[in-house]
Amino acid sequence: MFQKTKKKLSFLYATLYLLLFSLFVIVLYFSLVKLMENQQINELQDFYVRQEHDFFEHVHANTKTLSYDPNRSFFYYIYTKDHKFVHGDESFKGLKNQIEKAFGNRNPDEDLVQHYEWQEEHFLLLKKPIFNDGTVAGYIIVGKSVTSQHHFFQMTKYLLVLLTCISTVLIGLLSYYMAGKAMIPIQWSFDKQKKFVSDASHELRTPLSIFYSSLEILEVEEGKQLSPFGKELITDLKDEAEIMKELIEKLLFLARHDQQQVSIQKDTIPLSTLLKKVSTKFQRIMPPEIQFSTEIQENIELLGDASKIQELLYILLDNAIRYTNSGAITLTLLQNKDTVKMTVADSGIGMTEQELPLVFERFYRSDAARQRNGSGLGLAIAKAIVEQHDGKIYATSFVDKGTTFHIEFPI
Ligand code: ATP
Ligand code: MG
Repeated sequence: MFQKTKKKLSFLYATLYLLLFSLFVIVLYFSLVKLMENQQINELQDFYVRQEHDFFEHVHANTKTLSYDPNRSFFYYIYTKDHKFVHGDESFKGLKNQIEKAFGNRNPDEDLVQHYEWQEEHFLLLKKPIFNDGTVAGYIIVGKSVTSQHHFFQMTKYLLVLLTCISTVLIGLLSYYMAGKAMIPIQWSFDKQKKFVSDASHELRTPLSIFYSSLEILEVEEGKQLSPFGKELITDLKDEAEIMKELIEKLLFLARHDQQQVSIQKDTIPLSTLLKKVSTKFQRIMPPEIQFSTEIQENIELLGDASKIQELLYILLDNAIRYTNSGAITLTLLQNKDTVKMTVADSGIGMTEQELPLVFERFYRSDAARQRNGSGLGLAIAKAIVEQHDGKIYATSFVDKGTTFHIEFPI
């Protein structure tokens, strides 16, 4: 029970951490990229201001000069407004032709910043118009290689993703450990409460037995001297003591189940025969306004405790009778490939969808059920018995239509 809560808490913490940390990492990453890019654009703009005068120097010369130096950090190409090359410095052979293909027919007065990739190199380009007396006379394309920064950010991206994954796993493990620590006092008081119920039930057994046997002695020894009212009182007291004894036995069983002290003896039970035997008994006590029928597949066996399975059937059939005024009750048993399936269906008062998950809780009784006798422990015990046999139990129900309890045991 606490294990599940611990896992849920750790998962929740890890998911929240992942969301917050991812947000932080994304904001940090894009801020860094933007900062770096702004700085590079500023550098390109400074360079543009310095090289702009080259246009006026070279535009009327007949020779078009393009000098090449691979160690240059910036390169630039100057064109007239009719896209005729005027002058330039380049650091990557052949890049000019590529850039002309990409930007050659663009508007000369366009002002743009663009990333460009060529032969596994990454460039940042700035294109700006050159003005002469207020009119566009040409344009310049200034650029620099940003390959190393590109690779740096690529690596940073992978590292941040890896860091996020590793730290999320670590946070998950740490939260699991911390949740365990936080659960210690809760577990302690939960165990104490379970022990209290177990001890209290145990301690109440002896005085109750003495009380019951004293009543029996009184009835036998002094029966003749007692008035009819006195006799009636003794019978009532015996009935109440009987109910109390049953309740204490039920509580004790549940307390032992909680403390995993119940070791059931597992034998091969002839389940089909057991169900038929129980059905015959119930057939006899069935009220005349209820039709009881069975569909029991032959020769089904189960590894378990026969007395417990019998108790389980008593609980479910008792409920079916108790919560059905008139109608039908059906008990079925069949075997699939890997499960034995048992159902107890009635056409009684039924339950609402909200009530269904609560019926296996201890002492839970619906408002409709309160008009009838009962302690609200039957289904909690049924669930414990099914769990002891590694099975599962659940109910389906519709108000005024009836309820079906489904039990599945693994083979
Ligand atoms: P007891 O401990 O004596 O069996 P109980 O029958 O009230 O008392 P459970 O058997 O645990 O307790 O059932 C819990 C509640 O579930 C019931 O009070 C009732 O509200 C609901 N319930 C159980 N079985 C049925 C059923 N077949 N049809 C409708 N409601 C049911
Ligand atoms: Mg019951």
